[in-house]
Amino acid sequence: QAFNRLIIVSYRLPFTVHQTSDGPVLHQNSGGLVSAVLSMAERLGQTDGQPTKIHWVGHGESVLREVDPAVLENEAFVAHPVFLDEAVNQGFYEGFSNNLLWPLFHYFPSYASFQEADFAHYQQANGHFRDVLTNLAQPGDLIWIHDFQLMLLPELVRQALPDATIGYFFHIPFPTYEIVKLLPRLWRQQLIQGALGADVVGFHTPDYGQHFLHSVAEVLNLPILEQRVVLPDRSVLVRDFPISVDFTKFDGSAQTDTVTSIRQRYQRLLGHNRLIFSVDRLDYTKGITYRLQGYERFLTQYPDWHNKVTFVMTVVPSRDQIGQYQELKREIEETVGRINGRFGGIGWRPIVYTYASLTFTELLALYTACDVALITPIRDGMNLVCKEFVASRYDQRGALVLSELAGAAQELTDAIIINPTDTQEVADAIQQGLTMPEPEQALRMNQMRHHLQNHNVFRWSHDFLAAIADSQAPRPALE
Ligand code: UDP
Repeated sequence: QAFNRLIIVSYRLPFTVHQTSDGPVLHQNSGGLVSAVLSMAERLGQTDGQPTKIHWVGHGESVLREVDPAVLENEAFVAHPVFLDEAVNQGFYEGFSNNLLWPLFHYFPSYASFQEADFAHYQQANGHFRDVLTNLAQPGDLIWIHDFQLMLLPELVRQALPDATIGYFFHIPFPTYEIVKLLPRLWRQQLIQGALGADVVGFHTPDYGQHFLHSVAEVLNLPILEQRVVLPDRSVLVRDFPISVDFTKFDGSAQTDTVTSIRQRYQRLLGHNRLIFSVDRLDYTKGITYRLQGYERFLTQYPDWHNKVTFVMTVVPSRDQIGQYQELKREIEETVGRINGRFGGIGWRPIVYTYASLTFTELLALYTACDVALITPIRDGMNLVCKEFVASRYDQRGALVLSELAGAAQELTDAIIINPTDTQEVADAIQQGLTMPEPEQALRMNQMRHHLQNHNVFRWSHDFLAAIADSQAPRPALE
């Protein structure tokens, strides 16, 4: 075993704490990162007959301040909360992370808000994470830092602990240098330098890694040798590690009685109608309005489908206190209303729209009930929904319509790949999906399932850790 303890660092902790009359209770979150990390705990083996616990550093909500530290631990994790002042958290998380880096790195520069005070809070917050880490880390620990909220942290930790082993993974797209250049000079220098504090910097796709290396060369003028940034005293490996899903969990759960009975209920409600399905968080990157326009065009050009198809579109509430998101929600609701008014009748609603989150079983029932999954983001680092859909289709049925602007499109090449802003292409892809012969559905689905079976979330975390271990191995001096 190459490492002593594994320390994960991300904005969010792996569980939330609820106050009950019996005192505080921990609720473990599910989700890709948590399940990947749990599997790593198993791989890291046992100490003293106990499974190795993962240490997790993340933002501590105010409820945690009053909680006995002993409560911040379960069988799998020990949480180390980072407490931030409300104003700092606001500028760091809502401001710099969500109102600048998120829109900018998803190629929405006009939505990006450049505020000096937010950058100061971003620096401050990253500094607080560093303080908690330097108190916690011991020689031999592996520190794995996640995502764009903590881009300065690898270098801050490197300065405090020069011999630390640090990995950094970036979960959103890394854009071309032309976009990075929109950041003030000092900000872009610090952000890129920040990431280079790690031994390995990981991205979802080779393109994002190449973009990052280009920015390294332009902004810091550092030499790059193959996939490594060469620093005076060490080098940094920059590589793609596409995140994925727990294939077996989706494949297995889709076949359970609970999911089957919900699926049958949905099918009864829809009668003989064919089903198109989409689910996303409310976000302007997800291309929801273009998707609706594509569906409208499909209904216009393929009228034989009237009364015979239903588009179940679920939007998961997200950040809807913010103006841009409220505006988007209004636009979606208006468009849904218009399309239903234009084509629908007493017996048929062309779009069944809900603004709510789904339970895991409802999600699986919809993944497996639908004929076409319509996944059309304008920009998405990876997109896990499409991978979950494929992993759930043990029946080898269904067609996936997937945007070429999702990271996942680089892997799921057997999907019907479209450009999400081309509403004609979307309309035709829906038609192609609904009329795809079953042998072709099975062929495409099997190819994609085979890929995901091999490239699952455990492989993602394993490959990343292996790359870090490899980066620690002594290497011959460069000629
Ligand atoms: N999901 C969820 N609640 C729901 C529906 C879906 O948490 O009501 C999950 C879904 O299973 C997936 C994740 O949200 O794992 C969305 O991940 P994705 O990478 O597609 O998009 P993101 O929201 O991270 O941009």
